[in-house]
Amino acid sequence: VDSGQSAAEIINYRKKHLGKTLSLSYQQPLKMVRGQGAYLFNEQGVPYLDMVNNVCHVGHCHPKVVAAGQAQLAKLNTNTRYLHDNIVNYADKLLATMPDKLSVCMLVNSGSEANELAFRLARCFTKSRELLVVDGAYHGNTNACIEASPYKFDGPGGEGAPAYVHKVTLPDPYRGEFLGNNSDAATAYANSVKETIEQLALNNKKPGAFICESLQGVAGQIIMPDGYLTQVYAHVRAAGGVCIADEVQVGFGRVGSHMWAFETQNVIPDIVTLGKPIGNGHPMAAVITTQEIADAFVTGMEYFNTFGGNPVSCAIGIAVLDVIEQEQLQNHALTTGQYFQDQLNKLKQRFELIGDVRGKGLFIGVELVEDRTTKQPATDKTSWLIEHFKQHHILLSTEGPFYNILKIKPPLAFNSGDADKFINVLELGLAVLSH
Ligand code: PMP
Repeated sequence: VDSGQSAAEIINYRKKHLGKTLSLSYQQPLKMVRGQGAYLFNEQGVPYLDMVNNVCHVGHCHPKVVAAGQAQLAKLNTNTRYLHDNIVNYADKLLATMPDKLSVCMLVNSGSEANELAFRLARCFTKSRELLVVDGAYHGNTNACIEASPYKFDGPGGEGAPAYVHKVTLPDPYRGEFLGNNSDAATAYANSVKETIEQLALNNKKPGAFICESLQGVAGQIIMPDGYLTQVYAHVRAAGGVCIADEVQVGFGRVGSHMWAFETQNVIPDIVTLGKPIGNGHPMAAVITTQEIADAFVTGMEYFNTFGGNPVSCAIGIAVLDVIEQEQLQNHALTTGQYFQDQLNKLKQRFELIGDVRGKGLFIGVELVEDRTTKQPATDKTSWLIEHFKQHHILLSTEGPFYNILKIKPPLAFNSGDADKFINVLELGLAVLSH
């Protein structure tokens, strides 16, 4: 049992001294004191199944990752101006998981920082700042990332898209303009990107970069139609731009069939950004790119990053990759995710409220609607379900512009027994809501 401050004391302190924009989950926030596998434990030691944390990827406080960090922390931590084995060993291991042409690895500290650097690389290489972004997307909290995130610049407190940022249609097979996972929809959505590029050309501009998550996270746990990125990448490259895959949420085997989610779209990006799961909770991130793009960044200006690539982060990064491999977590995500989606689809047959079940591996969205024909978002019922799950000690959150999508992306320690637990609680909740 935890002897720290009460929830009320912590809430008051946060409001007063940590800035009022720091958000909390739940009306009555939870205090968590320990994590293990797919579970978090509150101050009374009560376990909660964590269905939303895609950061502690190989399981909360995985002993091998913890040990690797502790050992290196006790030995040396410094910046990259000294030679050290860890950064070389880590880069080598990480690059081995990437397509051959992606052979340069730059280490940073957060997903936002990775995207910032990606934008700079793209600009140096293409000499164009014009940026194409997918509607509804989120790419980070820094100035440039907010400007690249419709979720933020079009949302509360936002100031709209800056002149150099161009939104393209969200390729949403369920709620979008072109429905279904088929080649017509892929082409139609890709053509809308082509039109944006043509519009730029009319103003004597060309795209510098196109940034896109390989599966859409914040925009609504959306799986783009097969073939979409292949066509978009071709349009962007034909116009002189580069393609950035944001794998901050969806990388490292979560999609099950592949290590990287861009592989599910059969493309090779010019720049890949990695974050969240990369350090299993330790703040680190990476930008992976080609020799040509990395060379264009050699402008005479030094790039120095105090923490990026430090020996402790690299030791942790190596341990995360080792655990993914040793515990075969990618395959585990595939089989568990398939089983889970099958169970969700069975519930969909019984409950009208479930409009759509979609996902790859352990990245899943369940979209709830009042009416399957009009697809009116069941926003209130979704928020009721989140509280219902909390009462049953399952941590869950919503996603999408209408907050009517259950966002499912648990640590990969999540197993089929956990899936059954979730399904039972969801069924209970749906039964109540269907009366
Ligand atoms: N890209 C995506 C797709 C994200 O979801 C996030 C964080 N939610 C970021 C970038 C930014 O990462 P960070 O919070 O580590 O800066």
